[in-house]
Formats: sequence, C-alpha cells, structure tokens
Amino acid sequence: MLEECDVCPRRCGVNRLAGERGKCHITNQVMVSSYGPHFGEEAPLVGRHGSGTIFFTYCNLCCIFCQNYTVSQLGEGTVVSREGLAKMMLDLQEEGCQNINLVSPTHVVPHILVALELAVSRGLHLPLVYNSGGYDSLEILKLLDGIVDIYMPDMKYSDDDIAEQLSGVKNYSEVNKAAIKEMHRQVGDLEIDNRGIAQRGLLIRHLVLPYGFAGTREVVRFLALEVSANTYLNVMAQYHPCYKAFDMPKLSRSIGQQEFSEAIELTQRRRLNRLEKSNPFLR
Ligand code: SF4
Repeated sequence: MLEECDVCPRRCGVNRLAGERGKCHITNQVMVSSYGPHFGEEAPLVGRHGSGTIFFTYCNLCCIFCQNYTVSQLGEGTVVSREGLAKMMLDLQEEGCQNINLVSPTHVVPHILVALELAVSRGLHLPLVYNSGGYDSLEILKLLDGIVDIYMPDMKYSDDDIAEQLSGVKNYSEVNKAAIKEMHRQVGDLEIDNRGIAQRGLLIRHLVLPYGFAGTREVVRFLALEVSANTYLNVMAQYHPCYKAFDMPKLSRSIGQQEFSEAIELTQRRRLNRLEKSNPFLR
C-alpha cells in the first residue's frame, strides 16, 4: 500500500517507501508529537488512570481550523521506530491507562500494525482506540477488523463542498458514512463495563461549527436511521478559530450557546440519547 500509497481515500499514489510524500506529508516513517495518560478525553475512555494517547504527527486531512495544526500540518514531533512505538504502548499500559488511544492514525496504519504485533507479543492487552478524522478507506478498516476495539471517528461535515473548502477533501461525506457503517459493523454500539469504562464499540465525535457548517441535522439523521439510535455521541462545543480559520470571516468566531443548543435539540429529536456528558455546555 505504501509503494503506491492508497492507505487513505486520497489515494495519492506516491511511493512512500522511496521517500515520496503525498498530502499527509509523511514518507515511510512514523512521527509522534507526544504520548501519555490523557484525562480530557470522553469519560468512558478516561476512568481513573487516563486514556493512553499517542498523538501521531501529520494527518490525511488539511482542516483550516485545526486546533493541533502545529502537529497535524506543520509536522511537530519526532521520528520513532516500530520498536519505539511498541514500547510507548507498553509504557502506557504499565502506567495503568485504560486503553491505547491512537490519535490521527489513518496515514500510519501499516506502521501501527507492525508495532502492535511487537507490543502484543510482549503482553499488550488493553483495548485499542482508533481516533480518526473519519476519512478512512474501507480497505484499511477491513485490515483492522478484529484488532481495533473502539472506533472513535469524527463526523465533521455532511456537505462535500464545505468539506473541500475546510478540509481539502472532495468526498468526505460519502467516505465518512461508509467508514462509520463499517466501523459499526465490526464493533457495534459502545459497550461500557460496570466501572464505567468503554471496552468495545463506536463513539462518534461531532464538532459544531459556526453557521451550521458541520451539517448536524444530516449527521444525526444518518446516525439514528442508518447506524444505530443507540450510538454514543459527543457533540462538541469547543470550536474556536485557529490556524487559517481567520482567513474565512464566518469561521473567525467561536460558536454560541444558541448554536450548540440547536445541535443538541436535533440529536434529541432523533432520539439519540447517549450523549457524552463531560461537555461543559451540557452540565
Ligand atoms: S496516507 Fe498520505 S500519501 Fe497515502 S493516500 Fe493518504 S494522504 Fe496520500
């Protein structure tokens, strides 16, 4: 896949093994910006000891409002070997983390699989979280069937023109919906044990954007009618302009309480009642 890269739906066709770079900017290396227990993730991922996050450098999306743009777009991070990546996973397990949370993994799935093989052979047994922007190909997801325990994709947009303008991809909605159906087919609705910790299933993130750019109405319709009304959903209110968002006047402000309330009302009308409660707007 890396020789004529089709690791993600962009299908750049570059030879990453020969050092060529596609839209995600990375060759045949893995770069990580940071790793450690993280307490800001969704409540069922955090528990008492945190979610064991590994933040991969670069991304297959080019969101102009990315809050982590220094990592996702500008390449902040250091190169790690497959051995090094496996050791990070084992270190997080040793620290008591509830899971291994792979943040922006899409463009480095082949490398993650090699590292996982090493880590599992050395005792890694935690649930594996695939935390992506939701622009994942079915071919890659099928490789992950039986390996990933918890899928946590974004549903960023319902409108492909907006997706192209804001994230630089042509067919986000179609790819995203197909990916989410496949993820749900593999792992089902989110299962939470009696300690409140997620063990398996699908968790969707949806960031509300100004002026309805995120297409919340269609996102919740799709989830309720085509995936499952029992979908665990985090409707996020924390949008604030950064990176190139200031170039676009309509993205140059945070969202208001009214916009967020409308998004929540849409989820409730569709009877999507498993909403993430750690959102400050919902308390
Ligand atoms: S993983 Fe990177 S190089 Fe490969 S198709 Fe996607 S954006 Fe292009």
